[in-house]
Amino acid sequence: MSAAPAAIPLVDLKAQHAEIAEEVARGMARVMDETSFILGPAVRAFEEAFARFCQVPHCIGVGNGTDALEFIVRAAGLGPGDEVLVPANTFIATALGVLRAGPSPVLVDCDAWHLMDPERIEAKIGPRTRAILPVHLYGQLADMEAIGALAAAHGLLLLEDAAQCQGARRHGRPAGTFGAAAATSFYPGKNLGAYGDAGAVLTTSDDLAARVRKLRNWGSEQKYHHPEIGFNSRLDTLQAVVLSAKLARLDAWNEARRRAAARYDELLADVPGVETPGTLPGNEHVWHLYVVRVPRRDAVLERLQAAGIGAGIHYPVPLHLHGALSHLGHRRGDFPVAEKAAAEILSLPMDPHLTEDRQARVVDALRRAL
Ligand SMILES: *Cc1c(COP(=O)(O)O)cnc(C)c1O
Repeated sequence: MSAAPAAIPLVDLKAQHAEIAEEVARGMARVMDETSFILGPAVRAFEEAFARFCQVPHCIGVGNGTDALEFIVRAAGLGPGDEVLVPANTFIATALGVLRAGPSPVLVDCDAWHLMDPERIEAKIGPRTRAILPVHLYGQLADMEAIGALAAAHGLLLLEDAAQCQGARRHGRPAGTFGAAAATSFYPGKNLGAYGDAGAVLTTSDDLAARVRKLRNWGSEQKYHHPEIGFNSRLDTLQAVVLSAKLARLDAWNEARRRAAARYDELLADVPGVETPGTLPGNEHVWHLYVVRVPRRDAVLERLQAAGIGAGIHYPVPLHLHGALSHLGHRRGDFPVAEKAAAEILSLPMDPHLTEDRQARVVDALRRAL
């Protein structure tokens, strides 16, 4: 009997590490040699490189993406009593970052691309609304022209959750450059992932950048002088070494993801019952996740996992149905598009090193599971 084929992970982080292992070892040795553990030169070098990559003047490295979200809301001067519009279907951190800064998140249902639906925004704008915070989910940007026009018409601030879209563009313009500020996450599985928690704020505003630099460093610009309250949330220097090594490969890795997505599209074209994901016109997608829709999703997922396919669900529960947000007072049925999607979506393995052979096995297993 031949051995069972190796399991296929949702994201192959080992293959990513193999490409950069030597560079990371050298960079980490340098940090240890310099004992520059907090905000060392490697942090500054990464911040500058990522700012250049995103075509924004400022990148401020912080401890994680949730802190980055909290900091952009705080730095924008929003607080208790204010409301910030966020999509109903995202990772919970989008809403928790807003809540931790003080404002109340107000949920907006999504469109066919799982992105905040511009058509549903105006109905959610009230006297307390101060900002709109779309999420560039799965690797493509929300409709920033439509959302930006609504923000401008109502005098609202535009912020971005850019955690899932490093390198993505819309009509040639990079994610994180549309609003006053953007938050991103370098959680290991993201397109640009660290070897632990890490995140960053991107902004075109000198003023917001200065505020975020203080917020991440106990409210201080000058050592032992604390004119305001802040936090301890700096980008770790060893993580900055990893991120710089991966950033140099990010465009090539995103291109590899696009090729893998195109192959899935082809392989799945004749699999009945599977709805492949689309790209909102104008977007250059970076395929953080390749999310299909299938009938009887839970049973299909179980069968895929039993076959060693690391499929997943992003996310099984829309925000309004989490206990953590029960105080918003919503009930099942309030966000029908997000709820229907949550019952049908299935994320297939996706990463830059995914081989054609593995993709064929994934599609084969999916065909059988259906
Ligand atoms: C990963 C993620 C975050 C949170 O980032 P952490 O670094 O894990 O705190 C926020 N929003 C979205 C959309 C994410 O995918």
